[in-house]
Amino acid sequence: MSRSENRPSVVWLRNDLRLADNPALTAAASEDRPLVVVYIHDETGDGIRPLGSASKWWLHHSLAALDAALRKLGGQLTLRSGPAARVLPELVDELDAASVHWNRRYTAARDIDAELKSSLRERGLTVESHQGNVLNEPWQIRNGQGEPYRVFTPYWRSAQDRPVRELWPAPEAVEPGWPERSPASDNLTDWNLLPTRPDWAGGLRETWTPGEAGALDLLDSFVADRLADYHRRDEPAVDATSGLSPHLRFGEISPAQIWHRLRGTGASTLPTAARSNVAKFLSEIGWREFSTALLFDNPRLAEDSYRPAYNAFPWGYTVDQLGAVDEPAGVSEVEAWRRGRTGIPLVDAGMRELWHTGTMHNRVRMVVASFLIKNLLIDWRAGEQWFWDTLVDADEASNPANWQWVAGSGADAAPYFRVFNPGLQQKKFDPTGEYVARWIPELGTADYPDPIVDLAETRREALEAYSAVKAAS
Ligand code: FAD
Repeated sequence: MSRSENRPSVVWLRNDLRLADNPALTAAASEDRPLVVVYIHDETGDGIRPLGSASKWWLHHSLAALDAALRKLGGQLTLRSGPAARVLPELVDELDAASVHWNRRYTAARDIDAELKSSLRERGLTVESHQGNVLNEPWQIRNGQGEPYRVFTPYWRSAQDRPVRELWPAPEAVEPGWPERSPASDNLTDWNLLPTRPDWAGGLRETWTPGEAGALDLLDSFVADRLADYHRRDEPAVDATSGLSPHLRFGEISPAQIWHRLRGTGASTLPTAARSNVAKFLSEIGWREFSTALLFDNPRLAEDSYRPAYNAFPWGYTVDQLGAVDEPAGVSEVEAWRRGRTGIPLVDAGMRELWHTGTMHNRVRMVVASFLIKNLLIDWRAGEQWFWDTLVDADEASNPANWQWVAGSGADAAPYFRVFNPGLQQKKFDPTGEYVARWIPELGTADYPDPIVDLAETRREALEAYSAVKAAS
């Protein structure tokens, strides 16, 4: 190998912690140079948004799984920490790298990527970004006027007209090719991503297997066992959904892999009873894409109302008055909501499920969010931040998009006056009470609190408060 061929390619992994169908990894591995696979952790979230506690737990295990998978192929994961804008160029210098590849991200952090791309290219490196984490780039799906869609149905119709790209197999080897010079790596445990005092992650460990192998197993079991029941996806006691959201969030599986399994080469092996649910399931993947596109076009989706008229909303408490998520809320109703002690069974069951497992059933997410926003008149941003800290699938796009959807301030949102009634929701979707009993063993005893608010009265107050938005519209 000549000196120039010996200059390595770098793959910078971010939200794409997998080997299969990873276009950036495949492109770098195909250059026939020594290959360096790096993950860069910045505690400040590159100055944009630090990870929440549950996401950090997931990230630790996902990186450990990826490193183990790379070692089986002869490689290893290099861990570095600090702001990517500084650390990546330093690594490139240290290695005298010839090229850098990554899969695109769609948050405000893409400004960092754009800067890096131009500065490294100016220095003569090959720098390529790839499409790894979505079915369509946000800018590819536009309406007749070339503008972003504001409504999901036409967005998804238009998205489905486009072909889904082919899959990339995992590389057969990722040998560094120059083991004597492999770069130094941080020690994962030194990043302190796992909770220690106290270790609250027992329920997460029972529930999840982070990493690519866990993601692929879950897709298989979903297709074989649960997709046939997907029409019952709104019933929280029924195990009818995929459970793939944190795996998608960290890119341990790609939406293209899911699409090909259901509509492409894998479709012929689907159980017959599952086939009628495929379109509905894929449309949920479509909501993930739509949320990503919303964030791309509105980088402050977690901070600003998508519909500006909602800035006039007279919140009982704004997010700034409530303090940080790692401190008691200071407002007893919010603290009761966080801990699952509101006295409203479906709300409490959901919040306890979240606290224990790092996830919550989608129907119940809508109910607890509606309760916080409309019955307690708390700014949706406070709920978004709590979810950000506690969900293993906390996503920079899907979380604020869904909170704004419930608040009525988002794109294609539920109308504000639709206030979920938790009692009716429970009757409809948990008719036997199995789900609430699972999470509230003391239900019906003196240990369970009385409701902290009157649902009918607070509903009336919420509708009155909404008149301020109407006036501003
Ligand atoms: P499935 O029903 O199996 O759906 C398959 C995939 O489609 C999911 O894994 C997810 O990637 C995507 N998806 C499904 N529903 C939605 C949706 N409404 N919006 C966007 N994508 C969707 N989802 C997140 O991934 N991260 C979040 O931070 C998040 N925050 C939410 C906050 C609120 C207030 C609400 C109401 C919903 C939120 N969701 C979020 C959406 C949804 O609740 C979860 O994606 C879903 O419960 C995950 O379970 P699953 O993987 O079994 O879903």
